[in-house]
Amino acid sequence: MGTENVESDMAPVVDRQLLEWIRSIRRTLHQYPELSFQECRTSLLIQEKLTELGISYRNGWAGTGVIATLGGSVGQLPCSGHVGLRADMDALPIQDQKSVAYASRIPGVTHACGHDGHVAMLLGAAAILSKRPLTGCVSLIFQPAEEHGNGAEKIIKEGALKNGLEVVFAGHIDTHYPTGTITVDDGVICSAADPFSLRVVGKSGHAARPHEARDAIVAGAYLVTALQTLVSRETDPNKSAVVTIGRFQAGEANNVIAEVACIDGTIRSNDHEVRRLILDGMQRICDGVALQYGVEISITFHDCLPVVVNSSKATKVARCAARRVIGEELVISQGRPSLGGEDFAFYQQVVEGCLVRFGADRPLDSGPAHSGRFDFDEDVLAVGASWLACVALQWLKENGENKSHGK
Ligand SMILES: [Zn+2]
Ligand SMILES: [Zn+2]
Repeated sequence: MGTENVESDMAPVVDRQLLEWIRSIRRTLHQYPELSFQECRTSLLIQEKLTELGISYRNGWAGTGVIATLGGSVGQLPCSGHVGLRADMDALPIQDQKSVAYASRIPGVTHACGHDGHVAMLLGAAAILSKRPLTGCVSLIFQPAEEHGNGAEKIIKEGALKNGLEVVFAGHIDTHYPTGTITVDDGVICSAADPFSLRVVGKSGHAARPHEARDAIVAGAYLVTALQTLVSRETDPNKSAVVTIGRFQAGEANNVIAEVACIDGTIRSNDHEVRRLILDGMQRICDGVALQYGVEISITFHDCLPVVVNSSKATKVARCAARRVIGEELVISQGRPSLGGEDFAFYQQVVEGCLVRFGADRPLDSGPAHSGRFDFDEDVLAVGASWLACVALQWLKENGENKSHGK
């Protein structure tokens, strides 16, 4: 085998013309962001671009999702060697505060997490891969509703990982690392997220006669403080975890004792035992506070996200692709696992998977992810598109050849 030829063939370069094409897609998406499960316009743009590239696809996954397949028509699946590349599509309910020409034109909705970039990069990878001979299949998974947390779960239930798909790769733009770098880490990289709602129900009454009422605000406020001891007093300090209360709503008037307090929050952890301990501890503390204040407290958990665990096999291929695209010295580690959640975890519960981070500098006047001033250096688009194409080729090279001998 002519190794040199194959090696140079393995690192696709995004030329100026392709970068402009990717950038214009990103900017269009940025101007018309859509919330989870409402990505209709985004879905149509993806389909239009895939058609332009001559790539077949199926739309309607969880409503707005699109899965395109290269290297074999959908009817011929399963094929020898099958790799998935995933991009999330949704934006956030945040007002865009940037003054750039491509700022959001939809009031109260912004691509503040870089998912516009992810879609554009995956289309860039599609453009590269559509010109290459493939030794197996590549599925391009445009997934709705990452922010909402259950887009991945939904399309998997609909069969997105069937047809012999062996592995899924994805990358997330991350402004904590410089443009041109890619973080690649084996094992746990993102935490489990357990969003919860607490409902404290007391008895309303006159502000001047607390003995005739059961104050939901006082019980709720105490509960918020008590819950903070879960991490500070009960879990191993060497193991990361967070309990955040993001919303507390209660009361009607200054002279009325509140009957109900609604408290929403999220637990982040990346160790199974720590997570169990916090969940059990939360129940115990709620029961204790309810008893102490003579109120009722109920807990509801919503759409839990599992931990993102990169498999060794997929990570090895991801690292190899990153070295080819940016060179050894720019392949870095993200360090300790993030306490952020990612619904990429659902793919990894079914198949091998690796999620990397594409480093991107923040423009001077921009803000962090999930803020109205979020933006990123668009040079990352070339790195991301190139890595996505490269990692698919690399996987097929390492895992598709034996099976393709019989063809
Ligand atoms: Zn996000
Ligand atoms: Zn995101």
